[in-house]
Amino acid sequence: MNLATLPKVELHLHFAGTIAPALAGRLAQRHGAAVHDLGIDGGRYPARYRDLAAFLELYGRIDELVRAPDDVFEVASALAGVQAAQAVAWTEVITPIWPYLGRGSPAGELWDALAAGLASGGSEARFGILLEVLPDAVPGPEQLADAVSQGARRGLPVVGVGLMGVGPPEGRTRLAQDARAWRAIGLGLQVHAGETGPAENVDAAIELGANRIAHGITIVRVAAILERIVRDRVPLDLCPTSNVAITGIPTLQAHPIRELWRAGAGITISTDDPPFVGTNLEVELASIAALLGLDAREVLDLQRRALEVSFAPADVRLAIDARLDAWAAAA
Ligand SMILES: [Zn+2]
Repeated sequence: MNLATLPKVELHLHFAGTIAPALAGRLAQRHGAAVHDLGIDGGRYPARYRDLAAFLELYGRIDELVRAPDDVFEVASALAGVQAAQAVAWTEVITPIWPYLGRGSPAGELWDALAAGLASGGSEARFGILLEVLPDAVPGPEQLADAVSQGARRGLPVVGVGLMGVGPPEGRTRLAQDARAWRAIGLGLQVHAGETGPAENVDAAIELGANRIAHGITIVRVAAILERIVRDRVPLDLCPTSNVAITGIPTLQAHPIRELWRAGAGITISTDDPPFVGTNLEVELASIAALLGLDAREVLDLQRRALEVSFAPADVRLAIDARLDAWAAAA
């Protein structure tokens, strides 16, 4: 199946998770950090990680190299180039704005670098920002509003919040209040839950008002929660290769995506941290098409549904829908 030209939609991708080994090496040299500490062997990151903690430890070391606006620009422009080359028409990037600001960049310069870098992929590779929020470090309403307007001024839409987990039960009333405030200013909500943690976290994410769940694969263990995901049409932004590399699932064949698909769960396909887990979106879509027995038309339908549940602005949706129609007509 030749998916090279299919316009694609990617909804679950971490900004620093796109830093390829060569770029990580350059950033390390620039900042005087030890390149040999970056887990790079033969120009690659490890193919598999002992567990999520081991992955996050390496990820943290790479992310920590993004310190100045020039770094942000380089990461963003490399990402834009990769997405453009794969005909990814819309990408939602989970971006840790506040940690980067905390490393001393003036806000305006950081946003300039991010917007310019992402724009360098051209007008057919559009991006929206999901503001990375940790459940125990929620930014205030002014910080949120400032981020939204910083992006808007530069033609880079901030379309949602990427909440990295649901936190402990005692914090959820407060988190639900925050989530209501995010919705009130028009932001979508994607919540990381059920990657390795209990399926009940996915339930908690829905209670918080999640529009989409990042991962959510552990719900196959709890029938009631799987039924709820199907009934309420809550999409799962899946990254199967990442799960195999990071969470101990032995092979792609053993990944629960087939059970989720058969049960009628809404799924979208993304790559999470592509160079860290040895994939890209085109490869990922081809692997999943083979695994689920999808033909080209069904992979196209997956992109249409991803666009539907995305937080993309209306004009972007219309333009990409037209490109999908054109691809279908030519196929
Ligand atoms: Zn993720």
